[in-house]
Amino acid sequence: MCGIIGCFGRGDETLDTLVHGLAKLEYRGYDSAGVALLGDEITVCKTAGEIADLRDALRSKSLSGHLGIGHTRWSTHGPPTDANAHPHLSERGSVAVVHNGIIENYQTLRDELTAAGRTFTSDTDTEVVPHLTEQGLDEGMEPEAAFRAAIERLEGSYAIAALIEGVNAIFAARNDSPLVVGIGSDGSTDDTTTGDGDQVFFLASDVPAFREFTADVVYLEDGEFARIDGTLAVTDRDGTPVSKSIHTVEWDAEETGKSGYDHFMLKEIHEQPRALRQCLRGRVNELTASVDVPDVDDISFVHPGGGRGKFSGVQFVACGTSYHAAMYATQLFHEAGVPAQAFLASEYATSPPPVGDNLVVGVSQSGETADTLSALREASSRGGQTLALTNTVGSTMNRECDHTLLIRSGPEIGVAATKTFAGQLATLNLLSLATAERPASRRSLVPALRELPGQVQQVLDESNAEAVAEHYADARSYFFIGRGYQYPVALEGALKLKEISYEHAEGFAAGELKHGPLALVDEETPVFALVVGDGEPARKTVGNIKEVEARDGPVVAVTDGRSDAGRYADHVLSIPESHPRTAAILGNVQLQLVAYHVANRLGRSIDRPRNLAKSVTVE
Ligand code: GLU
Repeated sequence: MCGIIGCFGRGDETLDTLVHGLAKLEYRGYDSAGVALLGDEITVCKTAGEIADLRDALRSKSLSGHLGIGHTRWSTHGPPTDANAHPHLSERGSVAVVHNGIIENYQTLRDELTAAGRTFTSDTDTEVVPHLTEQGLDEGMEPEAAFRAAIERLEGSYAIAALIEGVNAIFAARNDSPLVVGIGSDGSTDDTTTGDGDQVFFLASDVPAFREFTADVVYLEDGEFARIDGTLAVTDRDGTPVSKSIHTVEWDAEETGKSGYDHFMLKEIHEQPRALRQCLRGRVNELTASVDVPDVDDISFVHPGGGRGKFSGVQFVACGTSYHAAMYATQLFHEAGVPAQAFLASEYATSPPPVGDNLVVGVSQSGETADTLSALREASSRGGQTLALTNTVGSTMNRECDHTLLIRSGPEIGVAATKTFAGQLATLNLLSLATAERPASRRSLVPALRELPGQVQQVLDESNAEAVAEHYADARSYFFIGRGYQYPVALEGALKLKEISYEHAEGFAAGELKHGPLALVDEETPVFALVVGDGEPARKTVGNIKEVEARDGPVVAVTDGRSDAGRYADHVLSIPESHPRTAAILGNVQLQLVAYHVANRLGRSIDRPRNLAKSVTVE
């Protein structure tokens, strides 16, 4: 999920170029870094921590070679330690590999390789790749064939770069994780083999890593392999050469860092389809409507109608956006017949309820949120079992809780949570499906979850949120309303707008508006109403829309168009038809875009809003 760099053809500058390239990728977020050079043999230097720590480590280590690879790791398998940092070496040290992504079947491969006598030195999923490649070499395969054979065995997402002793080349492969090749200055060809032997080649997960050296790039696609050995040869899975064109990037080195987006927040909003795919990959099977989440295998709930289980209910503890995810989760468990409550973590820690036989789930992007940690520790001290639902391996919650379920959204840089909220909602669905729900709800929800990344993409492609935001950017106050699963999204829509635009915004349960807040509604108070489906909740919310209209309040309906909401609204933000649970994620994408464009129009500091921090480590 983080950064890869490779460099061929810069002679004595190779190591500096690699480390410099990693520094350019720091914006992607990471927890460890490392490099490997290929000379007579492969030499590696790697460390947990920052690029500055890697530079320190390099002072006492001599690496030699004229081609190499480097990596910034954002841990998914195993905590951020020196041993888990990339590059990873094979048993004899003849193969070095860096990897972004997640190898789903690593445990099977690791068991197989261990049984064949290979010794692992890290907790990562990645380490199977150098071992598999070396196993191929030991069986007499040619280096490239051994690398390809190793990649063939992998299931999951990966961008991989490898060095193999004795071959002056960088090997690469990608599936569902970006990789781009940069070609120094005079490269130009439309042939399958690119380069004239004097050129400089770079390989990276993003152009900023090498933009100052070249603007000419070749984007690798899923299923493609690349061999860089003074020329670039790209082939498909079957080994057939692929003709690649060279693109020229339009922006210069100073603009790098956000992949062309003006803000990290906007980039992260657009990363949601990929983040959701990564979250769901290997965990839901549409054919069998089954859910496979080994991390929660030993969690089960007692059902009111009978059925044995370990826990009688679930208590969620969380803050801010994560609390909205927790509120949404209580509805999932209620539908499954399991008692569930969401607590603001700071209140839970101050006045803890009886834990009883409840599972206590802490929801936190960083896994370091002090209020949530304190609530979890309180629950633990009273004998409660705890689960961390987080984006961050190796975080304090991950270490301290009895169980961990990762949301796998990738690093989030913008202070305002966007893709991680979507990841939390999707992962909470996995949690309820895997531990509490009956087969019937799996049959309807699993296909909806599988469709979700594509539907989020559709919302992003077709959204008119920018025009709506422009229209209301001078409003005095913004209200958001929703029912059921859309209620926490209404709260989240208001929080997002507050956080980054500094404008007044409030979210309400749609039915509550008339019990007080309606007094504040006038022509300067747009009300964003989330209306999904054509059932009773949608009809009631349409009634609430009419109440707003009667007070001259402008209405923006966020809707799948199955109710009358659009007819009474001044503006419509459309979402595709889907399950009410996934519709909540789709509606939220529209509200993220509204918040972003209002804040942008007002010239706010979107990625670092005043007074706020990404990871709140004080109570
Ligand atoms: N899954 C790998 C690990 O945990 C790679 C993570 C990354 O993309 O940085 O080491």
